[in-house]
Amino acid sequence: MKEFMINIAYLISASLFIFGLRNLSHPKTAVRGNMIGALGMLVAVVVTLLDNRIVDFSLIILGLLVGAVVGTVLALRVQMTAMPQLVAVFNGLGGGASALVAGTALYELLSLGMTPDVPFTTATVASGIIGAVTFFGSGVAFGKLQGLIKERPIRYSGEQVVKALVFGLALLFGLLLIKNPGDTHLYWLMILVSSVLGVLLTIAIGGADMPVVIALLNSYSGLAAAATGFVLENNALIISGSLVGASGIILTNLMCKAMNRSLLNVLFGGFGEAVSEEEDIYQGKVKATTPEEVALILEGARRVVIVPGYGMAVAQAQYAVRDLYNLLESRGVEVEFGIHPVAGRMPGHMNVLLAEVDIPYEKMKELEEINPTFDQTDVVIVIGANDVVNPSAQTDPKSPIAGMPVLEVWKARTVVVIKRSLSPGFAGIPNPLFAMENTLMLFMDAKKAVQEIVNALKES
Ligand code: NDP
Repeated sequence: MKEFMINIAYLISASLFIFGLRNLSHPKTAVRGNMIGALGMLVAVVVTLLDNRIVDFSLIILGLLVGAVVGTVLALRVQMTAMPQLVAVFNGLGGGASALVAGTALYELLSLGMTPDVPFTTATVASGIIGAVTFFGSGVAFGKLQGLIKERPIRYSGEQVVKALVFGLALLFGLLLIKNPGDTHLYWLMILVSSVLGVLLTIAIGGADMPVVIALLNSYSGLAAAATGFVLENNALIISGSLVGASGIILTNLMCKAMNRSLLNVLFGGFGEAVSEEEDIYQGKVKATTPEEVALILEGARRVVIVPGYGMAVAQAQYAVRDLYNLLESRGVEVEFGIHPVAGRMPGHMNVLLAEVDIPYEKMKELEEINPTFDQTDVVIVIGANDVVNPSAQTDPKSPIAGMPVLEVWKARTVVVIKRSLSPGFAGIPNPLFAMENTLMLFMDAKKAVQEIVNALKES
């Protein structure tokens, strides 16, 4: 009966995870989705603590306390721009924990004098390999994003053969363990080789592609958890691990699609290797402007579209952007936001920042919706965005971003681009938009620039 009740509770928690995910798919319901998911996790944790096999709660309570303190401090202190690193740490810890728990379950069974069967050891091997790859791969991803490790992809000849051999060795130790489950050395050898594999797989990818890799590692951490669920025969872990695995791969796919790249190209392509530093496409064509001039142009505008990008996040300009939005709307100007799916450094980055300052959701338009409206727009203000408004994605088939869907801001009557210099963005390529006839460049920090435009508008 108790077993039945526990499984019902796990089913409720799994349903909460699914409802939570459903709600997370829209910015309006995302906060609710987060709470529902957290409630599901609470139910799963409480039910698991009722397990008869727990002999001592002291270590569990200590773990909960340490985890709660570290998690709270991190969540409160981390900057939005450092969110990918934080997710990398979470994924890594999830993968590492799955591998350790699966290994401990093996030791537990052996210490009881029982012989683990093939399904049990197979799941242990899967959890060990995927978990160790995730832990060390995420560690490298964190290091690259945090600037602790060289961002450039580390490539060498015979790289793929080396990786295939290392993977083969990890599998070999895994198969030997399935055959001789009593030989726990094999488990640790397998973990060691898989850890090397995790490092090799991630150092070969440029820092620029790390957010996609992190989404993929997120999926791996889910698979490792699901495998551990099979080891422990825990339905909640199997279901939640599978949900993380599936949603991680869906997100990876969406990110690749928005960048018009295949996953194989991300993993083996070495994007960010060749960065063109010198380009004179701008020579004599770039027109600089001032906040006062922009305010003057805005005074005559009836429709304005604001396109935020990574620079808005870096400058924390969203509050100033909200002030500009409010001021323009109060003067009867129609203002909308054009949100590119990969603007910033993580999916939904711009939506989160704009939601933080209470920009109405219905004002945030997706690429497909806003693109047909640019030719009826008086002014587009590009705030710290670069690649997502680069016309060469459509015009230059050799461009690294060729084919990537972009916001066609150049179709508006006037385009104001706010950034500090002509430096390239994430893809490391020049942007012909900056040299176009109808483009004005406001070379300033995004926050300062928007604040000064607001002040100039108020004074006029
Ligand atoms: P970009 O990285 O293309 O450009 C950002 C621009 O912001 C830079 O050119 C920089 O110019 C400017 N900037 C930086 N700091 C400031 C500041 N303080 N004030 C004003 N401007 C500033 O950003 P986008 O958002 O246009 O594009 C995102 C890129 O990231 C795409 O290439 C996308 O593929 C990639 N990517 C996105 C992911 C996602 O999930 N969102 C994941 C992986 C990759 P300057 O230095 O001159 O100021």
